[in-house]
Amino acid sequence: MAERAPLLSPDELAEKYKEFIRFYLDEDGEPIYSNALAQMIEDQRRSLEVNWVHLYNFNPEFREIAEDIIVHPTFHLEAASIALKELVNELLGDLIREERYRIYSEEDFHLRFYNIPTKASLREVTKFSIGRLIEIEGIITRVSDIYDKLLQAVYVCPEDKHDVIVLDVASGKVKPPEKCSKHDAPMKFSPELSKFVRWRTIRIQERPEDLPPGMMPEHIDGVLLDDIVDEVKPGDRVKVTGIIRIKPARRDEGRGQGPIYKRYLEIVHVEVPNRIYEKLEITPEDEEEIWRLAEREDLEDLIVKSIAPSVFGWIEVKRAIAYALFGGSTKILADGSKVRGEINILMVGDPGVAKSQLLKYAAQLAPRGLYTTGKGSTAAGLTAAVVRDSATGGWTLEAGALVLADRGVACIDEFDKMSEDDRRSIHEAMEQQTISIAKAGIVATLNARTTIIAAANPKKGRYDDYVSITENINLPPTILSRFDLVFIMKDRPSPEADSMVAEHILITRMGRNPEAKPPIDPTLLKKYIAYAKQNIDPTLTDEAARKIKEFYVEMRKKGIARDEEGGDILFETIAITPRQLEALIRLSEARARMHLRKEVTAEDAEMAIKLVNIMLEGAAHDVVSGIRDITGLMTGVSYTMVKRREIVYSLIKQLVEESEDGAVDRDVVVRLAAEKLNLRGKEYVIEDILKKLNEDGLIIFPKLDKISLIEG
Ligand code: ADP
Ligand code: MG
Repeated sequence: MAERAPLLSPDELAEKYKEFIRFYLDEDGEPIYSNALAQMIEDQRRSLEVNWVHLYNFNPEFREIAEDIIVHPTFHLEAASIALKELVNELLGDLIREERYRIYSEEDFHLRFYNIPTKASLREVTKFSIGRLIEIEGIITRVSDIYDKLLQAVYVCPEDKHDVIVLDVASGKVKPPEKCSKHDAPMKFSPELSKFVRWRTIRIQERPEDLPPGMMPEHIDGVLLDDIVDEVKPGDRVKVTGIIRIKPARRDEGRGQGPIYKRYLEIVHVEVPNRIYEKLEITPEDEEEIWRLAEREDLEDLIVKSIAPSVFGWIEVKRAIAYALFGGSTKILADGSKVRGEINILMVGDPGVAKSQLLKYAAQLAPRGLYTTGKGSTAAGLTAAVVRDSATGGWTLEAGALVLADRGVACIDEFDKMSEDDRRSIHEAMEQQTISIAKAGIVATLNARTTIIAAANPKKGRYDDYVSITENINLPPTILSRFDLVFIMKDRPSPEADSMVAEHILITRMGRNPEAKPPIDPTLLKKYIAYAKQNIDPTLTDEAARKIKEFYVEMRKKGIARDEEGGDILFETIAITPRQLEALIRLSEARARMHLRKEVTAEDAEMAIKLVNIMLEGAAHDVVSGIRDITGLMTGVSYTMVKRREIVYSLIKQLVEESEDGAVDRDVVVRLAAEKLNLRGKEYVIEDILKKLNEDGLIIFPKLDKISLIEG
């Protein structure tokens, strides 16, 4: 395309920008830019943000100027920069004699345009010409170190200090003068006298929710200059206005640069809107429909059935996912500490029970949802990482899945396969909802206010009922205990259920299953969730609080094991901990929010209790005794097991002391212990304990059917 001659000379254009800043009035007759300029000077900032539409509508003459900005942004930005500098100097007047104002007025100023008409998706950047001004939206995944970019190089003659040569290096090519023209001496580069500008690269990636299904996210690099280098951090969702530039894709060793170039954006304006929930637009008609839906008696049923309808059963897991999508209320306590409102759910189960299917569906339904695996799709994995940037060779901070899903939902498959680094940082992410990183000189704290819905497979392939959950999966109790709900999903043959699942899968695949169609359209449900999260912040009523408390106290009592006659207390375990209490509150709040209610009712609490009960049944239930014991989940060592061991050991000790030869019959021990522990018919548990005691060097088997103590 042939370059058009500029409309105006740079000086004329600068005058126009001055006119606009001075005289633009908004609908209320306020001179907003003139006011903003005064404020800018007061704060000693150097950028003035200008809404492109204001410029366009200022007067008919400005229409053409505004349109020309899109085509010749560099030309306009330079003129606008001069205009701004002149205005600053005029306004400062006599103040300029003060040192700090003098230094300030000599710096560079920037008019930063935003809200331009050329809005593009990240995928469309290549459709625009180089040099154009465009606006894109995306999520920041990488932020490099800050560098200094050379704008003007100054060379000094070592003989005659005053002989200074300034080269304009805006072109990017610096050719140092070889010799001083007067003296026959080589010139020396002077960093002190040269002019630099702060420079940083960032990577802007497509937001997970914009991603067409099954596609890899695209990205474009951006360059931030001068006073805006600190505007963004990884995980920020941004709206960026920038000029399309190109740079050589890579340098061929020794052969200079090749013919391949890559596009990047020189960023003019960056906006980090903190409350753009989604590009989801909720119209007044949508709102009406949402409220109509909320009033339905069967709302909860409809929502639960709308989650992965092609998956048969697992109703309570789906209910939990539904609650997690809505989430509880985040609270700031009087002492300033924060209690998360986000609900974390883990599904542990046999392969092929539709865990992945549920996760993928949940990710699609959640506003700002993201599906990934424990390994993560980038070097940053689930949390964050400091990686080498191939372009600059320096270190860059890269955001992982939990940061990218900040304020959203991360659905993480194969959660147990996460890296060692992630294992370390995920504790903080799951409770404090931040991720701190300090590596290679980069120190940062990123937000990860993320709901986690995760799935893990048992390490032995199948879930083993007779060992605790922590022994079943490859996750430490410190991570496990940070889940509000843990579901154990077992695939056990049952003719009745099997035939129903088979029927469901078969007729779904044949396209004849009416239940495979969600009762609520997914787009509407997504809007419903976003609307509820934005507008409803439920609080507990006394009634609900009482219900939760009653349950808590009752459950603490249930951890008591009694002997066979049901009389004496054998030992106590912990059935439930304060962590579950918080989970109960969050789940009740989430249910209230689902119903668009501002108050958490007793019924909400009851439903939350029901879910926690199901989890306790599965995850914290000692299958052998039927005792509720959450210690296995919390600490990795089940209190029940520890107590049983103690009882068996003291029984052996007592029998050995009573014996003549220091040895007792193995089957006598097994029989008596089983009686004492109320485990008749489950003698293998006692055998397991004996094996353990032997391994730990407390007892020996002098003969196969005899037991003795090791004297310590
Ligand atoms: P997992 O992640 O638990 O190993 P998947 O989600 O990959 O299991 O499921 C394996 C396959 O079996 C999927 O095609 C899934 O649709 C099907 N499947 C398993 N359980 C069910 C179920 N209850 N209803 C419908 N389909 C099921
Ligand atoms: Mg799977």
